[in-house]
Amino acid sequence: MRQECAGRAGVSRWNGPAGSLTDVPGPNPRRIGVLGGTFDPPHNGHVLAGLEARDRLNLDLVLFTVANDPWQKTGAGGIREDGLTGVEIRLAMVEAAVEGLRGLQADDLEMQRGGPTYTADTLLELEGRYPGADLLLLIGSDVAAGLDSWIRPDEVKRRATIVVMDRPGHDGGRPPNGWNYELLEAPLLEVSAVDLRGQVRYGRPIGDQVPAGVVDLIDRYDLYGAVR
Ligand code: ATP
Repeated sequence: MRQECAGRAGVSRWNGPAGSLTDVPGPNPRRIGVLGGTFDPPHNGHVLAGLEARDRLNLDLVLFTVANDPWQKTGAGGIREDGLTGVEIRLAMVEAAVEGLRGLQADDLEMQRGGPTYTADTLLELEGRYPGADLLLLIGSDVAAGLDSWIRPDEVKRRATIVVMDRPGHDGGRPPNGWNYELLEAPLLEVSAVDLRGQVRYGRPIGDQVPAGVVDLIDRYDLYGAVR
């Protein structure tokens, strides 16, 4: 039976028959998906999107880049009034969410860079890390229409292929005029972090929507103000 397990550096591999190592992404991945987010918490919707993108777009690697400061959510007029979980814990949750999944990898580059998270900077950094690779920026249909509000949008256009994922409940959201994009044709899940935070707060179980390792971390750090 095929088994997936993640290497320490996030390089995933599966142990084939007689301990052979196959499916190990080479040292120079050519096609890299970038799924950026707040991940507060990461959920099965994110994971399924990463797996579908990996398989349908033939990606060597899908990086889950954890926003250090998702300024559009936290800044003036942002939608997060409930306070954001610290980036180290959000990163740990993403690591737990993708553990053992071939080609899916949590990435801390935005945390290391610090400050407000701009995707243009992330793509520039990834170009340096993976010279010559194709970068595919994976975004949900809920955020697609807002691309013009991102910092240095022309750089984002130039450095990556935009791939829109039709998120149930937000079907049909598309980039504004002037953006080329591809559509990920895949059945995705109607799960959102904001709903999950509410469910935890009111003591409802979320284990069917979130990987088990993430549930453990939510419990361990007592996240989302569970009413007890
Ligand atoms: P919140 O509910 O707090 O706004 P979220 O569930 O949208 O959070 P984010 O971390 O903001 O999660 O999402 C990161 C990226 O993943 C975004 O591009 C978003 O559109 C996409 N995404 C989120 N949920 C899903 C899902 N269920 N299916 C596909 N893509 C998703």
